[in-house]
Amino acid sequence: MSFKTLLPGNPSVHSGQQTTLGVMGGGQLGRMFVQAAQAMGYFTVVLDPDPASPAGLVSHHHIKTAYDDEQGLAQLMQRCDAITTEFENVPAHALLTLAAQRPVAPSAACVAVAQDRVKEKAHFEHCAPISGVAPAPHAVITTDASLKAVPADLLPGILKTARMGYDGKGQVRVSTREELAAAWDDLDKVPCVLEKLLQLRAECSVIVARGADGQVVSFPVQKNTHHDGILALTEVFDGALDPTLAQRAQASTVAIANHLQYVGVLCVEYFVVQNADGALDLVVNEMAPRPHNSGHYTQNACHLSQFEAQVRALAGLPLPTPRQHSPAIMVNLLGDLWFAPNAVRAQASRTPVSPPWGAVLALPGTHLHLYGKLGARPGRKMGHLNITGASVAQVRETTAQVLALLGLPALGA
Ligand code: ADP
Ligand code: MG
Repeated sequence: MSFKTLLPGNPSVHSGQQTTLGVMGGGQLGRMFVQAAQAMGYFTVVLDPDPASPAGLVSHHHIKTAYDDEQGLAQLMQRCDAITTEFENVPAHALLTLAAQRPVAPSAACVAVAQDRVKEKAHFEHCAPISGVAPAPHAVITTDASLKAVPADLLPGILKTARMGYDGKGQVRVSTREELAAAWDDLDKVPCVLEKLLQLRAECSVIVARGADGQVVSFPVQKNTHHDGILALTEVFDGALDPTLAQRAQASTVAIANHLQYVGVLCVEYFVVQNADGALDLVVNEMAPRPHNSGHYTQNACHLSQFEAQVRALAGLPLPTPRQHSPAIMVNLLGDLWFAPNAVRAQASRTPVSPPWGAVLALPGTHLHLYGKLGARPGRKMGHLNITGASVAQVRETTAQVLALLGLPALGA
């Protein structure tokens, strides 16, 4: 269905309630979308089977069915004026069903590209002449013959499942043909991509928001640090990245979004590598058809957050160029922190109940975002902290104190 402007606070043509925005998926990204939509006056509906999903807990309405449940989808359409998604593995046919009757952004076709590393890499290669940035050298492995045909110069490499990979899951590092064959066997011979293992000098990502009218705006470029395949830190300020590379990454992301006729918020991840001639270069890694963990700093450091941009793109509202008003560092809060030595313990019990938020929040410019998840587990994303300040030096100093309080590794130079 075509997009028209959906102003908040009007009676909805469909539900009789106020203008209502829906989201497929109830994770933390859905929760922050819902919170941004509600702040602007929209009603919200979440579809997620988990009764305790972070977004379901804060939405006006929560439909607790499977993502492809016909009745659940029918209810979502009946209640909502437009629908988005917060994760890329939502079944494409569910989005198609919804799109027959309501504006859906991003489209099923765009989500299908982001769901599948083979399609994603093909899209990046297709865009490379315009975007100026190519993906890592790679080969697609779907058959024994394609396994044998893998060029030797892709080793050592990383074998990645084409679908369902995230936070380093579904990936195996391999050095020899024997290891590659064994790893593919272990992955049940599902379709995979073997990527050459690159020497990364840095990692960065860019978030853009594109409206149905083709207007596209870019957020500043984020420098990302991963630990064990999971994003640990995002730093965004002048000097965090080479400005020429940052500009190229932004232009490339805009080209990738335009080429897909993308509507909504899109994040593209890049590697910074060093060429044989010593010059720094960019390699495009993967994309997410939604707001991204690396864009959370926008909530407190920009005058438009990535979630408000998602709301605006979906509702056909204007998309002004985002301006960053403070240098920022985002620290991911994984469940491990609940078990760290500094965690606050319940009285008369050894059970840790909380990281030392009191001490963290006593520092200036700390903004705590927790996702309402009960049951901290190592590696589970429980929340994030945005740190802002008057200068880069101040933000780095506060971050150093936060990291020490939480028992996390110190910032790099
Ligand atoms: P995920 O979907 O798990 O985020 P990625 O493809 O982004 O998958 O890989 C996770 C991390 O693994 C990257 O952020 C990077 O640190 C590392 N990585 C991935 N591919 C390569 C590569 N070809 N060379 C070197 N490091 C890589
Ligand atoms: Mg990634």
